[in-house]
Amino acid sequence: MLRTSRRINIRSGGRVWQVVREQYLRDDIACQSPLCFEGCAAGAGPTLPRHATCYLVPTDQVVRHFLDVLQLPEITGIVFTQTALGQVSGPAGKQVQRRVRNIIKTAEKESVFFANEFSSGAWTKQKSDETFAEWQLRLQYDAAVWYYRHLGGQVAVVVLCGDAGFAHRFGHRQPGVFVQTTDQYLAGFWPNLRAARDILDSVQAMLDSAGAESEGCGGSAGSTDYLPAAALQSGLSSGHMVRGHLTVNKHQPQMEAFVRSASAGARRDASLSDVLVQGAADRNRAVHGDEVVAGEPVPTGRVVGVLLRGWGEYVATLQLDEEQEGGGGGSSRAGWHLVVPFDRRVPKIRIQTRQADTLKTQRFVVRIDSWPVSSRYPQGHFVRVLGPIGDLETEIQVILTQNDISPRPFSQAVLSEMPSAADWSPLPAEVARRRDLRDTHLVFSVDPPGCEDVDDTMSVRRLPSGRLEVGVHIADVTQFVAAGSATDQEARRRGTTVYLADRRFDMLPAVLSGDLCSLLGGRDRYAVSVIWELDPDSFQVHGVWYGRSLIRSRYKMFYEAAQRLVDGTPPVRLVSDVPEWRGLDAETLQQRYRELRDALATLTRLTHHLRHGRQQEGALELESSEVQFEFDEGGANRIQPKQALEIHETVAEMMIFANHWVAQKIAQTFPQRALLRRHGAARPDQWEPLQRCAATKGWTVRVGSNRQVADSLDACVDPHDPLVNTLLRLLATRAMVNAEYFSTGSATPEDWGHYGLALDRYTHFTSPIRRYADVIVHRLLLAAVAAEGSIEQPAGGATEQFSDSELQEVADHLNDRNRAAQHCQMDSQVLFQTMYFVRRPADDPGNFVDAMIFSLRENGFLVHIPAYALRGPVYLQQKDGQVAWVGDEKVSWESESRVQWLNGDVIQNDSDVTVRTELGEQVYRLLDHVTVHIRVLESSAHAHQLRFDLITNEPYWASFREAALASAGDRSARQLVQEVTASQAARPAEQEQETPDELWSARGTSLYAVLQRHRQRSRDLKLAPATHRS
Ligand SMILES: [Zn+2]
Repeated sequence: MLRTSRRINIRSGGRVWQVVREQYLRDDIACQSPLCFEGCAAGAGPTLPRHATCYLVPTDQVVRHFLDVLQLPEITGIVFTQTALGQVSGPAGKQVQRRVRNIIKTAEKESVFFANEFSSGAWTKQKSDETFAEWQLRLQYDAAVWYYRHLGGQVAVVVLCGDAGFAHRFGHRQPGVFVQTTDQYLAGFWPNLRAARDILDSVQAMLDSAGAESEGCGGSAGSTDYLPAAALQSGLSSGHMVRGHLTVNKHQPQMEAFVRSASAGARRDASLSDVLVQGAADRNRAVHGDEVVAGEPVPTGRVVGVLLRGWGEYVATLQLDEEQEGGGGGSSRAGWHLVVPFDRRVPKIRIQTRQADTLKTQRFVVRIDSWPVSSRYPQGHFVRVLGPIGDLETEIQVILTQNDISPRPFSQAVLSEMPSAADWSPLPAEVARRRDLRDTHLVFSVDPPGCEDVDDTMSVRRLPSGRLEVGVHIADVTQFVAAGSATDQEARRRGTTVYLADRRFDMLPAVLSGDLCSLLGGRDRYAVSVIWELDPDSFQVHGVWYGRSLIRSRYKMFYEAAQRLVDGTPPVRLVSDVPEWRGLDAETLQQRYRELRDALATLTRLTHHLRHGRQQEGALELESSEVQFEFDEGGANRIQPKQALEIHETVAEMMIFANHWVAQKIAQTFPQRALLRRHGAARPDQWEPLQRCAATKGWTVRVGSNRQVADSLDACVDPHDPLVNTLLRLLATRAMVNAEYFSTGSATPEDWGHYGLALDRYTHFTSPIRRYADVIVHRLLLAAVAAEGSIEQPAGGATEQFSDSELQEVADHLNDRNRAAQHCQMDSQVLFQTMYFVRRPADDPGNFVDAMIFSLRENGFLVHIPAYALRGPVYLQQKDGQVAWVGDEKVSWESESRVQWLNGDVIQNDSDVTVRTELGEQVYRLLDHVTVHIRVLESSAHAHQLRFDLITNEPYWASFREAALASAGDRSARQLVQEVTASQAARPAEQEQETPDELWSARGTSLYAVLQRHRQRSRDLKLAPATHRS
């Protein structure tokens, strides 16, 4: 081990300080290449490819500017040096480093990080005739040389550099190590990779203009330089400044933004610590999502520094009327274009592209590179095309990109870990180790029709002692997904299965989710069980067993059939729905029928008891309003709860019961690092919309405790209008904060509870096929049980021992992925709704609907539309000041509307909005019904929006076109999806296929061609000795 000292530069307050730091050089920094014959291969981490034309060593300039090229799936075998990453710094640099980490984590990229500054073979001191910058460049080159020599010249190494000067200096020092600019490299190796070429051109143009950017680009809109880091630090510690994420109001993106304080504990009273940033000038080049420091927090703040850029990929379209502001000054700025991000919170971005003509009709992805202080717009570059505007597949891609979800097929590494389903049977060793319930327990599942990924089953039986034994048996996913395996990492990255309105993206490969882990009827399956021993009358729990089991589900039932069974439908009329009974003689059938019916009846009694207990504690019954997000449950496109069956609640309550007991167990064993799910109480002011609405009916909603809220909601029932209670529960849901995962070590036990369910401990254990949180919880539970020695830990299921901080990091990631999945689901629902309305004639009866007022504004009100589960504003005043007056007659023969626009005023009061004209007054109260017409406000830059125009101030059913009600209002969500998809399928596929061969063919002689020939020869040589063995 060698010891050396190293000088590093620290920039602070505009000065550069040099600090001497001691550094230990090691000779065991691994190359991570399978070609290594020195035996330094690293353990489980990522490795470089075995078969590669060359390895790539990008310099810091390339990492900083061309990361989108390096991210392309085609480009593999990249060595990121410590020196290159060290040179990439600053608020935007941290983000670059994060992206590099993601590349390294992606197994298919076969790329690695090389700690060259700790490697005794790759690092050398700064020479006396070298500047610091020259030294840093040389270190990057030396790292490449080290790789080439270390691997004995088996593979060429290409140093990707930013400029030709570098190539000139280093190009010929070491044969086998080539120096190329990104441009040269792509021309030689990937001449037909359009995607790379387009990125390159756009970035290059951006860089070329960097020197000229200060002149004439439209004014700087009051931007100023950011304060130096030291000033920010002292401002933060003295409390004069606030640090947080810039959050732009999407309804007023030009004017209004907040800095949400990032300090811990601020969640409860976030409204107090938000700093309002008004207008573009005070936003000072910060973009929605950036982590910033705001100064002068009273009354409004100004961004004075950026700590971390939140810049991601932005979906955008070309601004077509760019003559006015685009280039910012005529022909000298040719090639520059303004693009309009799909997300209204993100400012327009200047990019340079030669493809403007093709891009006009497309949605594409851009990135921001910088925002010079002199420039009105941030500068960025083109990344890739998503597709034609308005095309269903394009718009789905938009939703996925916006939510940072990139579904891709499972990699070869994952698929190679999959067992074969065809001849699968439990291993004898597993049978011996597990509690075998196959012959002793009546295990069954109850799911929605068509469900193939069954992750939960239940069992009930009477013990000889007279006690009741109830079990919940969950798919043993961790038996097939070893901690740290490629499958495990991919599942963690995905976090959850993502459901869109018309498709889904699974968290696990189909062989697991639909087969080996799915607890199908009549098949032997591994499970993880929770089995309670209960008093048959009081349901008091006398004992609980947790552990691995082996089950064979006897029945795979659907909700409907199970409910009819409980309701007493005779067996002969159920046989068609319970295929397991087919062909039985009458006596056996009767016996099986009784057995199953008794089991379901017992569970129903038990869950009534459990549910009642939770309600006593104040659990909130808000499920009914969640229906709006369940697009695929036949006809659920309305706020009315879908045909609510008692059996739904029975199954749900059993799962809550299991989750609660597992939470208790793991929290007890691992008080510092168990994964739980918590749900906090809402802020008092969040309840205001609900309270206002209830008050109009004379009701008081008390919010002192969840029990009070629950009781109040139960009392808010209008016997003439069932929608009232539904809407109030919906408002209650909106008031509540979201439940979230956390590590027990990161919160005090008082904050572990679940407010909505009224449980002191809660977690997710029952859906490991579609949620990664449950996978972690399974491992924790099995580790807890193993720690007691009550079961032997099966091989291959080794528990992953997360520390508290690691677990909290995973929890944050899963919370983030859950939110993203939910947003995707909602966005896709809205997409299908708007596409549906776009295709319909404006006078279609389905466009006229009933709406209920739930919030008041100074120029109108917000309504909820139960028929399509939509919400939005209805305006009573137009921009010209005229107000909506509902007359007795239709305004014209072709319109159904009775609204005419007159001179007048709109007055907002506490519980109503009043329209006043010379004809008199019309009053709109909270919870009033009105009739609106739905139309689409089309946009090519953003999502289409639905607009609701007032038709009458009466409920729909008291109005015209009653006949249309049935057909239009009942249109199911599924039908809607099918209609939209079918219309899209009729379009011809326009994509042309590029064959792989074309991708690889090289023009003329290039470095690529030379290296390929060389590689071919060396392979021939290596093959030769092998012939002896044949
Ligand atoms: Zn090695």
